[in-house]
Amino acid sequence: MPATEDDLANRVELLRKVLGLERAQGLQDRAVVGGLEAFVARHLPQGAELVRGYASLSLAARGAALEKLEELLNSLDRGRPRPEDLLRPVEEAPGVGAKRAPLLKKLGINTIEDLLTYSPRRLEDRTRRKAIKDLADGEAVTVVGTVRAKSRVKVRPQLELIKAAVDDGTGLLFAVWFNQPWLWDELQQGEKYAFFGKVQSRYGTLQMDNPVWEPAGAGFHTGRWVPIYPVTEGLTQASLRWLIHKALRRYREVIPEVLPEEARRRLGLLPRREAIRRIHSPSSPADFERARQALAFEELFLLQVGLALRRKEEAHGRALRPDPALLERFLAGLPFSLTASQRRALEAIEEDLRAPYPMLRLLQGDVGSGKTVVAAGACVMTASAGAQAAVMAPTEILAEQHFLVLQELFRGLPVRVELLVGGIGAKARARILAALAAGEVDVVVGTHALIQEDVEFHDLALAVVDEQHRFGVIQRAALERKGRGTNILVMSATPIPRTVVLTLYGEFAVSVLEEMPVPRERVRTVWVAESRREEVYREVEELLARGEKGYVVFPLVEESEELDLRAATQAYQELSRRFPGVGVGLLHGRMTPEEKRAAMAAFRAGEIRVLVTTTVVEVGLDVPDASFLVIEHADRFGLAQLHQLRGRIGRGGQEAVCYAIADPKTEEARRRLSAFRDLVDGFKIAEADLQIRGPGDLLGTAQHGFVSRLRAANLVRDVGLLERARSEARRLAEKGVPDRLRREVERRFGEELELLGV
Ligand code: ADP
Ligand code: MG
Repeated sequence: MPATEDDLANRVELLRKVLGLERAQGLQDRAVVGGLEAFVARHLPQGAELVRGYASLSLAARGAALEKLEELLNSLDRGRPRPEDLLRPVEEAPGVGAKRAPLLKKLGINTIEDLLTYSPRRLEDRTRRKAIKDLADGEAVTVVGTVRAKSRVKVRPQLELIKAAVDDGTGLLFAVWFNQPWLWDELQQGEKYAFFGKVQSRYGTLQMDNPVWEPAGAGFHTGRWVPIYPVTEGLTQASLRWLIHKALRRYREVIPEVLPEEARRRLGLLPRREAIRRIHSPSSPADFERARQALAFEELFLLQVGLALRRKEEAHGRALRPDPALLERFLAGLPFSLTASQRRALEAIEEDLRAPYPMLRLLQGDVGSGKTVVAAGACVMTASAGAQAAVMAPTEILAEQHFLVLQELFRGLPVRVELLVGGIGAKARARILAALAAGEVDVVVGTHALIQEDVEFHDLALAVVDEQHRFGVIQRAALERKGRGTNILVMSATPIPRTVVLTLYGEFAVSVLEEMPVPRERVRTVWVAESRREEVYREVEELLARGEKGYVVFPLVEESEELDLRAATQAYQELSRRFPGVGVGLLHGRMTPEEKRAAMAAFRAGEIRVLVTTTVVEVGLDVPDASFLVIEHADRFGLAQLHQLRGRIGRGGQEAVCYAIADPKTEEARRRLSAFRDLVDGFKIAEADLQIRGPGDLLGTAQHGFVSRLRAANLVRDVGLLERARSEARRLAEKGVPDRLRREVERRFGEELELLGV
């Protein structure tokens, strides 16, 4: 390893001490044994010239020489790292430079600190070292030996082998590398190296393919628990590991602590500096885990401090005074009575609205559990208090449907509801905006059209956000800001794992709709191979003959949108020919709002009884008498999506059937389809989904800035850590957050928090 900056820094410090002593002693050249000149020459050759002949200089000349020397020390000192350097671009880290920086950035490593805290994905056990004579086929071990001979062979134009005969005194091992011509010069005959790889024993010879290697005794890439990082093309494990190592050597001493010292000790967490060092060179997996936990806790803690601060600063809600009589009238007018959990949810919401802080409530319930009525009740309460409510849905179709349902539910009540989506004309829009601003509209339903700049409310007090994961927190916050201390009700059909709730909805109260108002046991699911599609449509024909109606759904993904649309359109044409006189309709995202509306209305009314659709309708369509569903290419849907789709049928409690047509090509897709066929409970489905896909995808679905910022924390594993981080953060927020910590929160999560309106 090259002489290091640390080393230079130490020498500069040493010379400073000597310089101070020499001055204190009156320039007697007695500060060090052997005289200053020799000392400088030995420890800082670049300064030797400045103190040449020091012993024979006059006092004045000695003083001048020392000043020059001090200047030199100062200039060398300026090259020493300072804590603020950690935030400098990663280009400035030793060994990075302009060529590697873009590769690091691809990995999300933008600053020197990012490089230092870049977490290994896993550890590889390279600790086992063996003599060559003891090697067995298939084991992964470290072998230390001398290269006795090397050869290179061009097997084919595209394939060059470098082969080295390694001898450790007990036997011979061949190390073979494919297409790594640069090794030829690096690997020296007669030198001793450590090799790590998988041993193959063939016809009496031992071989390792593409072993990791380094000079014997280095103990860096071999002979220990080696961190394996996520890398990208053009950046090897070895070079990334080396870059991190060099950065650590240079900056380790200036890594600041983040957690309050008292809390850190009480929780038994490693100091940050130590944790960062150990995640890159742990002595064991347990050691690694301990380090990871310290860093994960820190992240989660900062995030929770940010959220806690936000709640505190936003606690300027106001107490609404809903009129109980209006809610009574609303409930009395319903064609059914509420389930127990619907009632509980409404009571909790009422309490929140009456309290002088803004509500943050997550309403969770499986598809068909009756969230809409609860939301409608919340809107009625808000309106009865003289304020306004907004309901935001992810698609125009869903917004429109909510609008229709609410209109129906509010019939006969003094609650005016309007629809605001991109598809309405400019004149209608202007009229609604004016009415909203004047406070004449009580409830407005819409898409993200609601959060456009020019939408103004007279007094927005409640924002209902349907299917939150489609929006993300940013849109929600934008809507929230159109009011003052706006109460928030988020509705989600996807059961959200507790960790995600704590992170994304850290400050939310949760209401769960546990029971299904209309039991769904009568919905049957069959998984059918593509080759038996014809049988499915024959059964559909019988269902139609009995007067039933339903959906045929095609997957639609952005990458193959044109093809997917064509498939749906073609099926629509074929089915129209096949079922003449039944009414076959088409509904997809590219149609105009009027066309969509017409198709939905016709389907509701029964003029259309087979609705061919793409996934744009996956959530929320509420046509109670729909009783069959054919899902084409079901293997292309996610499990949660399939469950959502199935939630569209049998909503009236009638018998219903879902055909999933699929020839899954992967094991994962097979597991997905079996789970879909066998499970009906949304929570069980979500659990299975998590198991099948693993935690990695959770981040994808959660789609959230905060989550993607987490580097060491693992949302599935770290529930306990998250809970502790949360209570620590709340405790601190109560006591007052020190400025330094506030700045750290701001720096790491500031962008997200700002979008949240902190
Ligand atoms: P989701 O939770 O999926 O949004 P909805 O609110 O759309 O569910 O409700 C599903 C269906 O159940 C709707 O047709 C609705 O009218 C009906 N429903 C809701 N609550 C009840 C209830 N308490 N009793 C009977 N039917 C109900
Ligand atoms: Mg719904």
